[in-house]
Amino acid sequence: MRRFFQWLACIALTAGALPAHAEPLKVVASFSILGDLVRNVGGNAVEVATLVGPDSDAHVYSPTPADVKKIAGAGLIVVNGLGFEGWLPRLVQSSGGKARIVIASEGIAPLRLGTAADPHAWQSVGNAKIYVSNIQAALSAADPAGAAQFRANADIYLAKLDALDREVRDAVAKLPPARRKVISTHNAFGYLAAAYGIEFIAPLGVSTESEPSARDIAGIIAQVKQAKIPAVFLENVTDPRLMQRIAAETGARVGGTLYSDGLTGEKGDAPTYIDMVRHNIRALTRALGD
Ligand code: ZN
Repeated sequence: MRRFFQWLACIALTAGALPAHAEPLKVVASFSILGDLVRNVGGNAVEVATLVGPDSDAHVYSPTPADVKKIAGAGLIVVNGLGFEGWLPRLVQSSGGKARIVIASEGIAPLRLGTAADPHAWQSVGNAKIYVSNIQAALSAADPAGAAQFRANADIYLAKLDALDREVRDAVAKLPPARRKVISTHNAFGYLAAAYGIEFIAPLGVSTESEPSARDIAGIIAQVKQAKIPAVFLENVTDPRLMQRIAAETGARVGGTLYSDGLTGEKGDAPTYIDMVRHNIRALTRALGD
């Protein structure tokens, strides 16, 4: 019997000395929201680097030499997919890295945004749960020794996302149905709208890439009045003065910032995915409540 335990201890020591256990798996996430999801599933068994950091816009991102280095040294690359990271294939090619690329949105039901797929699938908490499952499977495949830990971490995080989803549904249920619509400068909330029943209306003729003209603003003001939109929202990537002027001329409430495509830094309103969803739903219910 004693010999059996000695043998067992020997096996355990040998397993502990395997290189896969010695170093955390290096994972590159394409943007801050994915980075947060990977950290929650990977825990201290992974080392996560993000390419598009907090308060940055992935749509107009230009990769840096530091990104090439991150990709070259990665064991796994996690991307959103759905056309979100148009700049990624060239970056991966120029890095010469051979890491597996995991598409976190695999398996969600895509919505359309104009003629293309709407990439902002994470704005539904139900979809974020699919992201988490995909990330868990990918981490486990890349580091089988960590699989049990990844599963345990994912289970804890998925329970938090379930609670978050209920929180959002309860908050929306309390809003008067006629007031469940807002105008937002960045058309990034299609999945939130579909999942929770708040209508997001894009201001006509305004994009995040260019500043609107006086004529654009007049058009938006007419739009807000005509559709009786109770609240207008700013995004962290556009000029807030535009929406403030619209609110002043229409009487619509200015709802503050909704975060769509990126988290904030540690001291901001939305340093994690859960914080972001909670911040957005509070901002929406404050603006749309009686
Ligand atoms: Zn976007």
